[in-house]
Amino acid sequence: MRDARCAVGDADEGATVSYGPGVSHEVAVDEEFEKRLKAYEGRPAAVARAGKDPVNAPMIRHWCEAMGDTNPAYAGRDAIAPPTMLQVWTMGGLSGHTGRAHAYDELLGLLDEAGYTSVVATDCEQEYLRPLRPGDEITFDSVIESVSEQKTTKLGTGHFVTTRMDLRVGPDLAGTHRFRILKYTPIRRTERTEEPPQGRQQRPSQPEQEAKSSQSAPRHKPARPRPVVNRDNAGFWEGVRRRRLLIQRCTDCGGLRHPWLPGCNACGGMDWDTVEAGGEGTVYSYVVMHHPPFPAFDPPYAVGLIELAEGVRMIGNVLGVPCDKVRIGLPVRLEFQEYDEELVLPVWRAQDGTAQEGTYEHR
Ligand SMILES: [Zn+2]
Repeated sequence: MRDARCAVGDADEGATVSYGPGVSHEVAVDEEFEKRLKAYEGRPAAVARAGKDPVNAPMIRHWCEAMGDTNPAYAGRDAIAPPTMLQVWTMGGLSGHTGRAHAYDELLGLLDEAGYTSVVATDCEQEYLRPLRPGDEITFDSVIESVSEQKTTKLGTGHFVTTRMDLRVGPDLAGTHRFRILKYTPIRRTERTEEPPQGRQQRPSQPEQEAKSSQSAPRHKPARPRPVVNRDNAGFWEGVRRRRLLIQRCTDCGGLRHPWLPGCNACGGMDWDTVEAGGEGTVYSYVVMHHPPFPAFDPPYAVGLIELAEGVRMIGNVLGVPCDKVRIGLPVRLEFQEYDEELVLPVWRAQDGTAQEGTYEHR
């Protein structure tokens, strides 16, 4: 952090910022740099752009189909566009918009130079002031509304940048769309501190083709989709069937990897064995699924990208905690859940104080 700041000034003022339970780091706050960032507030990010297409029925229909939204207000003669489509009408497509203002790019460049090279979209707020109807021609302006002071989050230290887009039909303001990103320096993770547990050394032989057996799954409720089992990952699913979570280990360089692959990304080695995961992990990232509904799934449910204590990451449902209490860094523990006679999946149960048994179950 300090190194990155040398490029823009060295008026460091130490501040202790908490990164999470029991961990704190010295973070330098550079007032001169923060002033330069603040100067971008109120500057335009886009000026008097026009939507590529007028509000139109085909795009509304596709959206409603994708979202499973059958509200009659969005079809027929007097249809309006779903309000949540607001941003759709401003999108530039693959070729983008021309004539963009430079302030936004400049600001991001400044943050890059200062070492805040990572970016994550954090949230979006919309306000709807009048309905949009097929035929409406959209114009929009966008302004850099705010640049936060330096903040430290679980992802790392950086600055939130909020842009506000105002959408108009003729002179009328139709809605606003606020979009916030965090430009940050990721927390450097310490390399794996523990040796992986002793390998079990078995390379499973000819596992069952689970995909085939799915044909006899119960029919009364649509069966949960089966994992795609192939030659490369068959050993993983055979392990799951036996209630063991196996991580592939390169026998040339010792690197652990997931998902399973025929060779090692690090050294190119083709030989491998496995180690059994201890079952401890934390939520590295997650989504809560509300829409669209899929057969065999009951939304809302939380899907986590879990970072295992061994260092690899994998995806699975997060259980034992209400969806709105799932958070990055939440400690979780491996369980195997039987969804039907033939399907067992690894899932992750919250281990935090916030976890309330039974308040959230996903079947
Ligand atoms: Zn290797």
